[in-house]
Amino acid sequence: MELYYYVDKHAGYNDNHVVHAKGCPFLPGVDGRRFLGTFYTANAAIQQARKFYATALGCEHCCPVTIKKNLNHTNSVALKHMA
Ligand SMILES: [Zn+2]
Repeated sequence: MELYYYVDKHAGYNDNHVVHAKGCPFLPGVDGRRFLGTFYTANAAIQQARKFYATALGCEHCCPVTIKKNLNHTNSVALKHMA
């Protein structure tokens, strides 16, 4: 299903910029987010976000994607450790 995705303009912990899907309760307000576009997967949205912020990662709540190399962790958790 295609969703609207946004990235938080303000870096959080570890200087990460978190990607959110439309409707997420943690989505920042209009002034605090940058619209990324519509994507079919959270991973695609995160890749787009990294064109703006190299440290972008997915919100654990709305972007629970996995890395193929590391199936035991969600992308967001794994990236925290990589940052
Ligand atoms: Zn979210």
